[in-house]
Amino acid sequence: MACNCFDKVAEACDKQIRDVIGSDLAEMGESGFENAVWVMSAGDHAPVSLKYRFRYYRRRKNGEPETRQTKSDTAIMMRFCPFCGTAFSGSEVRDVPVRDGL
Ligand SMILES: [Zn+2]
Repeated sequence: MACNCFDKVAEACDKQIRDVIGSDLAEMGESGFENAVWVMSAGDHAPVSLKYRFRYYRRRKNGEPETRQTKSDTAIMMRFCPFCGTAFSGSEVRDVPVRDGL
């Protein structure tokens, strides 16, 4: 990991909110960033993605918009840490051994 800012910020947020809530916190639900990502390839990536929202009404054959909204949202991976600016190196390039007969 290029840096540990996400862990540090999450820890600070969690502590700050717990301090404000104090004894009113009866039982914990969740604490953490939304849009956490699991990148299956090896490498160095931001642990959170930005969600880009794109919603629209498709055009019907008669030219009028559909009443139902269509979602074409996507997730954007950050190439740099938004807290300290350190670059994430991205996916690791690995040599795949070639075996005879394959
Ligand atoms: Zn950072």
